Amino acid sequence: MKLTICWLYGDTMNIYGDRGNVLALAQRARWRGIDAEITTLAVGEPLDPDSVDIFFWGGGQDREQIPVSRDIQGEKGDLLRRTLEDGAPMLSVCGGYQLLGKHYHPYGEAQLPGIGFFDAWSEAGPERFIGNVVVESDRFGSLVGFENHSGLTFLGPTAEPLGRVRVGRGNNGKDGTEGCIRLNTLGCYLHGALLPKNPAVSDFLVRAALERKYGVTELEPLDDDLEMIAHQEAVRRAEATR
Ligand code: GLN
Repeated sequence: MKLTICWLYGDTMNIYGDRGNVLALAQRARWRGIDAEITTLAVGEPLDPDSVDIFFWGGGQDREQIPVSRDIQGEKGDLLRRTLEDGAPMLSVCGGYQLLGKHYHPYGEAQLPGIGFFDAWSEAGPERFIGNVVVESDRFGSLVGFENHSGLTFLGPTAEPLGRVRVGRGNNGKDGTEGCIRLNTLGCYLHGALLPKNPAVSDFLVRAALERKYGVTELEPLDDDLEMIAHQEAVRRAEATR
């Protein structure tokens, strides 16, 4: 079997170590004897959803989000939204997460339309949230990462948060939520990279891709002792900085 992991806008939306997410996805497939290929898709390039098994959309500065927002208007964004609504797995972080919602309004700039996959919207806030984050998620247990964003994300009535913030600020520093999850797509503010220290999320995405492409529902377990040592150490440090 083979999985293709597409890093959307990997040439510009690639900050705060988010590359580690595509490396973790590929490696956790290869450790299971599954071929894995990493591709990227830039502004102006056509999206072929049949050639992608898992999407990753990382963080980016406001200025990088402007051309990307333009790029996802019209057919390309509609196609991506339909693909996610068909159950394609995606991890989005920060700037990518913001553009999966209805819009992101950067400070002093015009509002940037998103693709409206999440019932959520983001507005630049007066301060930058920077620091370690620990989240309690019903689906994944504790999640740990770090955040660096000025955008505040608000969830609409049909949006499911990824979890509740235990350390850090999360979506907006007000309602205690962090991230959003819908079907097999996750959005969050957890840089780090997230996946190497949160293996349950990697396996959620890999399993969803294998089921959608090959009908496989069981995923061979991996020895995650090292990943969980890293996870617990990151949680300990985050709690010490609370
Ligand atoms: N530019 C967005 C913000 O500041 C996203 C930042 C990021 O991707 N880390 O909120």
